[in-house]
Amino acid sequence: MDIESPVHQSPSPVPQGAPHLPSDVSSDLSQSDDELSENRTTPADIAGNFSLVHRAWILNRVRFHAQKVCEVFSPPRVTLAAHRAGHTADFAFDITYNGWDALDATMRIELRQIIREMRPTLLVLSPPCTMFSPLTRMWNRDKWTPEEYAMRREAAECMFDYALDLAADMELVGRGFVLEHPAPASSWERPKAQALLATPNIRATNFDQCATGLLSPSGAPMKKRTKLLSNVGPIHTLFAQRQCSCVTQHRTIQGSEWGVQLSTWAQRYPDPMCNLIVQAAAQWAD
Ligand SMILES: [Zn+2]
Repeated sequence: MDIESPVHQSPSPVPQGAPHLPSDVSSDLSQSDDELSENRTTPADIAGNFSLVHRAWILNRVRFHAQKVCEVFSPPRVTLAAHRAGHTADFAFDITYNGWDALDATMRIELRQIIREMRPTLLVLSPPCTMFSPLTRMWNRDKWTPEEYAMRREAAECMFDYALDLAADMELVGRGFVLEHPAPASSWERPKAQALLATPNIRATNFDQCATGLLSPSGAPMKKRTKLLSNVGPIHTLFAQRQCSCVTQHRTIQGSEWGVQLSTWAQRYPDPMCNLIVQAAAQWAD
């Protein structure tokens, strides 16, 4: 599907009054993260409705504050880990966080332009994976009509292909990206994914999330075999070492525990995984 084709339309973002920029911003892009830290905002500062975030303010922010990490299809997780490590990382975009809606063609186009101008050291992409899971199809075979299934599938393909387009943009300008999806997901067979995998600088690495701290609510390890597509060498070096070595039994990611749906629970990156991604970005940039 052409990513510029709307799956559904909603009104264009409506600019509101731009927040004030720090008065002492300079145009010196060589400033380090430390030097910029006094002017640092936090991801929480820009939470709210994406359509109400003034685009000019975002662009001014990224012009003067080199971003170590930016996340798409995720609330601030790796972004927060980057903050904890002392880097400037102000932006995450997700419908559950600031209303950025990947199924809104206008928002897709606008964010793609923002990220092109932002040029973060590392762009972290976490498109929804549910519709590419064979188990999901099996469990919902009787619940969804063929039309509903086709609609959900089209939306998932639109979002995955959009993530690949953002990844290709980063590769084109020599910036890093990492795209995360379950290793067994059928999405990896999509033509755009195969095209990126055939690019010399881009590789994929599989790892187990139990080796990066994924635990059920009761503390049992959950394996979740995951694939990372990236043009950042340290991503592959660091995550290739994160293979399951559990001596206790895994908790299957199915059903619920303590009232928590485990499939939803397991979508949240564990902190050690976020920290490792930031470490890779820092190593790569040095
Ligand atoms: Zn394990």
